[in-house]
Amino acid sequence: MPAIGVFALQGDVREHLHTLEALGVEAFAVRRPAELARCDGLVLPGGESTTMVKLARAFELLDPLRERVRGGMPTFGTCAGMILLADRIEGGTADQETIGGLDVTVRRNAFGRQVDSFEAHLDFVGLDEPVHAVFIRAPWVEETGPEVEVLAAAEGHPVAVRQGHLLATSFHPEVDGDGRVHRIFLDLVGH
Ligand code: GLN
Repeated sequence: MPAIGVFALQGDVREHLHTLEALGVEAFAVRRPAELARCDGLVLPGGESTTMVKLARAFELLDPLRERVRGGMPTFGTCAGMILLADRIEGGTADQETIGGLDVTVRRNAFGRQVDSFEAHLDFVGLDEPVHAVFIRAPWVEETGPEVEVLAAAEGHPVAVRQGHLLATSFHPEVDGDGRVHRIFLDLVGH
């Protein structure tokens, strides 16, 4: 049974743990390097990307995270987690660092203040039925590198992408118990 960690220094951890457990994998919170070392795959949840990256540095997780992601560990970022995986950010704070690995530019809080949060039904590559997507102060993908596959779009911008072992969504597939996007991630883990 693969061991799937959920980055848990800040953010929307519990819903991911529940969704993963319902799919029959061992899911656990990651707050320390030793926990990261056990992971066959990792979820970076939604939350506040600036805080998450600062805490990751303070807890000596940022460099180990970069090494594991660069080394091929399947990783799934949702919302702030997508920002953490992005190589480039628009609308970040001046010194905002990321883990990186995904050859995209993401725009933070891209959908604007009036529509801070919204829901949509989106076609998703590889899924027969649309996904109910919940967006909360979400980023979108502004630019994609040549190896990035777009899996879903909203308002003309990619909101779900894959590049090799990395998967990222602007929205929160963990909130309504629909495990299909997590299932796609577990396929990358090889489960
Ligand atoms: N706006 C947040 C950020 O920039 C992301 C919001 C979320 O994860 N729901 O980090």
